[in-house]
Amino acid sequence: MCWRRVLLITLSVILSTGVLPASVASAAPVRVLYINSYHPGYEWSDAIQAGVQEVFSRSGLETELTIEYLDAGRFDFVRLQAAQVRLISAKYRDYQPDIILTSDNYAFNFIKEYREVFFPDIPLVFSGYNNFTPDVLGDMQNVTGVNEEIDYLDGINMALSVHPDTQVLAFVFSTDDVSNRRNYETARPVLSALSASYEIVELLDMSQVDIAQRLTSMSANSLVFLAGQTVDRLSGRNYSRVEHGQRIVDVSPFPVYSFWPFHLKSGALGGRLITGEEQGRAMAQMALRILNGEAPADIPVMMDSPTQDIFNYSQLARFRISPDRLPAGAMIQGMPETLWARYSMWLVSGFVFVVIQSMLIIMLFRNVGARKKAIAALSHEQSQLEHRVSERTEALQKANLRLKKISMEDGLTGLANRRYLDQALGKEVIRRDRHAAELTVMLIDIDYFKQFNDIYGHLEGDACLQEVALALQETCIRDSDIVARFGGEEFVIVLPNTGCSGGAKVAEKVMRQMVSLNISHTGSDISDRLTVSVGMVTVPMGISLTQHAIIELADEQLYLAKGTGRNRICACTAGGHQVTA
Ligand code: GH3
Ligand code: MG
Ligand code: MG
Repeated sequence: MCWRRVLLITLSVILSTGVLPASVASAAPVRVLYINSYHPGYEWSDAIQAGVQEVFSRSGLETELTIEYLDAGRFDFVRLQAAQVRLISAKYRDYQPDIILTSDNYAFNFIKEYREVFFPDIPLVFSGYNNFTPDVLGDMQNVTGVNEEIDYLDGINMALSVHPDTQVLAFVFSTDDVSNRRNYETARPVLSALSASYEIVELLDMSQVDIAQRLTSMSANSLVFLAGQTVDRLSGRNYSRVEHGQRIVDVSPFPVYSFWPFHLKSGALGGRLITGEEQGRAMAQMALRILNGEAPADIPVMMDSPTQDIFNYSQLARFRISPDRLPAGAMIQGMPETLWARYSMWLVSGFVFVVIQSMLIIMLFRNVGARKKAIAALSHEQSQLEHRVSERTEALQKANLRLKKISMEDGLTGLANRRYLDQALGKEVIRRDRHAAELTVMLIDIDYFKQFNDIYGHLEGDACLQEVALALQETCIRDSDIVARFGGEEFVIVLPNTGCSGGAKVAEKVMRQMVSLNISHTGSDISDRLTVSVGMVTVPMGISLTQHAIIELADEQLYLAKGTGRNRICACTAGGHQVTA
């Protein structure tokens, strides 16, 4: 190894511990020769290889991995060996690896025999070596590795915990190769210990037909353990371990247990299994330490092989074994996906979607509700406002009317006042001009009223004025007639559409009303009762006069009535003759 490579390996080890980012790793590869006892596709050694590659790739170390498959599982290795030696010799004469890894016994034994020839001093890490003991190494240097040793008692006890009613334990063993022989030897003391409590059946180096015969004669509470192969052979090659296992599973009426994961492919029920991945990982970790400069002698062989309880779902179903009966943490392979597992993502997303939608809809409804409430409150307020405005308007209108009435009414008598008279008479003058109608206007003045006040007092005078006003009002029956207080103790009656005779009738009625009032007036020079004088003017059709002129004519007639003795009516027609009553 050159100094540059050592530096790179050191870097890789640092990277695998996460000290530096992986991108620092260099392109110069470390040469790893991996000798696999079996063939590609053989699950056990494929798993070891996967474990190795996982650790190497996680470390960031760039490796040039060369794999030699000895294919000893399917072919007679003794016959192949000479050819393998020639192949290795030819391939590696000018290509020295930095480290050698092996999986399982064939590969280890092969390299043990030929390392000094082809790869002197190259460090070696083994894995999957069955039931390793230190004497296996002999005088080998620069070697460490991972033991593959089945803890039979542990595996059998686990199976018994699943099947507590078991009475018979049957074991398939073979002694046809080194590994199988070792397994058999390791298992025997365990079986003899168990024979005190169980009937032990050894199916040693038997053909599949013989095994089938034996199994069918066994009692119901039996378990079968795959701890080796049958003696059956295919023409041209051996059965693989998976195929051997499958042939046993096919004929066994009882649950078949194993100690290796590849028998799950054979259809075995399961077992406490040694996993290839862990073997590979452990081997690769040791390789990294050696590449980083540690001496293999300082790295002890890993004697305890890691296991995992793994079961086949279809076999559990076949023997009606509930998963609750399995040890805690057991893995079940081939379990059909439940509807929940398959659709949980969709169901959860759908549920979340529906919840969010519902929340939005609820929020929307609340919003609409709040909006409706707000609109209702607003319209209520608006209608209240409108109501208040209309109330105020009505009050204002009433106040206006009252004001108008007050401004047009005489405060003492309640008759129309002078302002109203001016306006109303003005309008009447214009109207009668347009329609060429007659109009009669009379001025009424109480006689000797100064004396009345003097004698009876001002308050009595007021009351008298009120009585006279009421009496005058009663003389007019038409809606269009106007009775107004002209000022002081003088009143005006306007009679639209009324000629001389109609006016005279009203004037006479006024006189009669005064008589019927029968108000005593001791201060009067002409009577002991209250009397009035009336000045009346009639404007006939065809004559046009201003209101001022009309009032003046009426006043002239009143003056005439006063001058001619009072308590009388003086009347004239505008532009016509004089009438005195
Ligand atoms: P003649 O017959 O010529 O009309 O005499 P006369 O006294 O009625 O007329 P004169 O013009 O001399 O007096 C009118 C009186 O009317 C004077 C006043 O005291 C009284 N008078 C005017 N307005 C009122 C009023 O509102 N209340 C009262 N009590 N008296 C009033
Ligand atoms: Mg007067
Ligand atoms: Mg008077």
